[in-house]
Amino acid sequence: MAKQKNYGMVIDTRVCVACSACVYACKSENAVPEGFCRDWVVQETEGAYPRLRMENRSERCQHCANAPCVTYCPTGASHYSDGTVQVNSSRCTGCKACLAACPYDARYVHPDGYVDKCSLCKHRLDEGLDTACASVCPTASLNLVDYNDPEGKAEKMMAGKEVYRQKEHAGTNPSLYWISASNKPGA
Ligand code: SF4
Ligand code: SF4
Repeated sequence: MAKQKNYGMVIDTRVCVACSACVYACKSENAVPEGFCRDWVVQETEGAYPRLRMENRSERCQHCANAPCVTYCPTGASHYSDGTVQVNSSRCTGCKACLAACPYDARYVHPDGYVDKCSLCKHRLDEGLDTACASVCPTASLNLVDYNDPEGKAEKMMAGKEVYRQKEHAGTNPSLYWISASNKPGA
């Protein structure tokens, strides 16, 4: 029997050029309404003058393995699926308990009254496709991974590099790993 999928992403900030192609691809693929987004790009300056460096990051829901949004959702609308966290809009009452619980500010209330966020394009993954954002990223900063993949793509990508996850102290066990810009030559 095939092993269950355990999807996530390895995001290489060294090569992100902050073009926002991922944001527009997501908006188009998932019909994200005007004024809202499921993913976004952050630009952060690190270090002290004159040794400064810029880290560009495409951010989204972290698809936490211990997700407070799932824990606090009173209707079961927020749920786990193959390592991702999904929202069943027909079960969502728009109570916003998940918005308050999420440490990553990854959710928004859709104008139609339910809560929405990145689904890791689960509808595409189920068809054997890549996420919309990763499929258009011109620099391969965004990498869909399956942590149960026996080939170990995620482990190979991260080997020997400075890697982090966001807000580890929150205990959410996120499925997104970030290859730090500090790995850039000369950083
Ligand atoms: Fe960065 Fe790729 Fe998104 Fe462009 S498409 S902002 S390079 S992650
Ligand atoms: Fe839930 Fe927020 Fe974690 Fe996404 S990032 S799974 S919305 S707690």
